[in-house]
Amino acid sequence: MGSDRGLCEICRDVGATATCRTCGRRVCARHYERGRGLCIVCTASLCAICGKRLSIARCQVCLRLVCAKCSMQVDPVRRVCLDCYRSGRRAGEPPIEVYSMRKLASRIIRLEK
Ligand SMILES: [Zn+2]
Ligand SMILES: [Zn+2]
Ligand SMILES: [Zn+2]
Ligand SMILES: [Zn+2]
Repeated sequence: MGSDRGLCEICRDVGATATCRTCGRRVCARHYERGRGLCIVCTASLCAICGKRLSIARCQVCLRLVCAKCSMQVDPVRRVCLDCYRSGRRAGEPPIEVYSMRKLASRIIRLEK
């Protein structure tokens, strides 16, 4: 039994010792984060807000990776995270701070002319 030892599905170099609880990949110790029970691919793509679920998209405002529960679909193609949604920032509009900075900058430029 067991001619297939099962190599780590990430490096394909070392025998797998653990299974990622999210994607089910068989991975070696180097590519497994024991604390979370996830492979490194999954840890790298976790939601930036809850840190638990896998992200499915990027917030169109702050560009963080977000999962389905921590984001809102604002139109058929765009998603924003709940933080941005609650603070009234929407896809397509720059964050408030950036916007006012830009206004300020254009005012300075105008004065210098
Ligand atoms: Zn590996
Ligand atoms: Zn995984
Ligand atoms: Zn989340
Ligand atoms: Zn956001």
